[in-house]
Amino acid sequence: MITDFIQLLFPRICACCDHNLLADEKVICLNCMHDLPLTNDHETNDALIQKALRGRLLIEKSSSLLFFEKAGMVQALIHDLKYRGNEKISAYLGNWHAELLKSVDWGRGIDTIIPVPVSTARLKKRGFNQVQGYAEAFAEVFDIPIAKNVLRRESSNSTQVFKNRLARTDVTEKNYRASNLKQIEGKHVLLLDDLMTTGATIEACGSQLKQAIDVKISVATMAIVA
Ligand SMILES: [Zn+2]
Repeated sequence: MITDFIQLLFPRICACCDHNLLADEKVICLNCMHDLPLTNDHETNDALIQKALRGRLLIEKSSSLLFFEKAGMVQALIHDLKYRGNEKISAYLGNWHAELLKSVDWGRGIDTIIPVPVSTARLKKRGFNQVQGYAEAFAEVFDIPIAKNVLRRESSNSTQVFKNRLARTDVTEKNYRASNLKQIEGKHVLLLDDLMTTGATIEACGSQLKQAIDVKISVATMAIVA
């Protein structure tokens, strides 16, 4: 009865469809779980991110949990995470994704994890980095540490309105900075992000990290534009 009362005051709703969650459901309802478009790239070995970044950034292996479609369920999910403060989605997807990947021993050889950072200004506004929970879940499932203070994002300024991808890439590149590179020298780094669209963010972060000697990079994202 107390649970019912709490449910009334703070309704637990599904991050995809906004229906009330049942007692044994967490973050996403069973119906949505069933309908979400999994890429299953851990089974098909379809290296979607590598293909998208061919000739731009060399990646060892990559995986995305979900296909992103505009006006689709995954968009609702990412929107809830980034703009409605539903931080739990991050760890939930991280756990789901990492467990799938663990079933095919995907984490073998990876030494350290780095989530794509957000700027201090954004962190203040949102209150959290939307990739942090995802990264922590990977760290726990694979028992691999997160490398801190290696990559940071400088606050973006008003010059971000560019029309073509090249210019936008240029701006993004300027915004990410790597330091303390000794920490990742000779290591295989798993770079994590929420959504892979043009790949500009992964490319910018990856090329910063590649300044470290003998570094290898793999990438995993919550979703990828289909
Ligand atoms: Zn739902």
